[in-house]
Amino acid sequence: MIVNSDIIYKGNIHCHSTNSDGQLSPEKVCEFYKNLNYDFISLTDHFKSEYNFTISDTSNFSDDKFTTITGAELHAGKNSNGDEWHILSVGIPKDFTSPTEDESGPEIATRALKAGAFVAIAHPEWSGLNLNDALSMPLGIHAIEAFNGVCKTFGRENGSYLIDQVMASGRMIGAIATDDAHYYEKDANAGWVMVQAASNSHDDILDALKSGNYYGSTGPEIIRSEIVDEYFHVETSNVDYIGLVGRGARFEKISGENLKEAKFPLAKFHNSWARLILRTNDGKQAWGHPFKIYL
Ligand SMILES: [Zn+2]
Ligand SMILES: [Zn+2]
Repeated sequence: MIVNSDIIYKGNIHCHSTNSDGQLSPEKVCEFYKNLNYDFISLTDHFKSEYNFTISDTSNFSDDKFTTITGAELHAGKNSNGDEWHILSVGIPKDFTSPTEDESGPEIATRALKAGAFVAIAHPEWSGLNLNDALSMPLGIHAIEAFNGVCKTFGRENGSYLIDQVMASGRMIGAIATDDAHYYEKDANAGWVMVQAASNSHDDILDALKSGNYYGSTGPEIIRSEIVDEYFHVETSNVDYIGLVGRGARFEKISGENLKEAKFPLAKFHNSWARLILRTNDGKQAWGHPFKIYL
């Protein structure tokens, strides 16, 4: 739940530099997001042999207003389509060891979790991932990309279908939006995370991500949300649709112009889960962190 929008920090946690297949140097990537007033980024170059298993070090480009978190996109083993896994790992140590030839996707994700990282399944729609793929990942993984910017350029940017299936299976999983920027002029500043943290320090941001104190967005903002007396209350930026969705076809919604708040009864979601969706008529969306409901 977002309870205090005064301590929310905007960040991109999936992007690439010339250390793998991105178009900008690590320094230019940091400059790019600094100039857009992002509070933090994690540069997540592909951790692969063809790029010498480089983990990009951006620590020299951080300052008191702009935090960088060491990250990588991990690849090991094959998913159910026989393709390599793409696993986002934010807050990974710089000495994370390269995968052995027989290491699986779930095994490298387990190692990243043990190393203290925030771990997420990248671009599930593009990779064609199904529920078995998601459930093969270790229990503690944190999120799935609900939106991926570079995948939008070819029409496969979504991931909330898989978030709903994982939640319906009884597990907990978060929803992030990312750029996965490679080219920057057409795939950056498309999707981001808004993190409610004690400060914009490396450790506070990483802790807040791992604790689920964030939401994903391509535009709309969650100002505040809370549950009071079996109702879900939310204040938002100006939007045209506010919805709460849950298991199967369950939902509550309001739509109209210039909406800024909503109050939904939680009875439909009893002993189950729900997640918030905000939308504007120009196609921008926010994805709240799913939550379980025991009334
Ligand atoms: Zn990828
Ligand atoms: Zn990527």
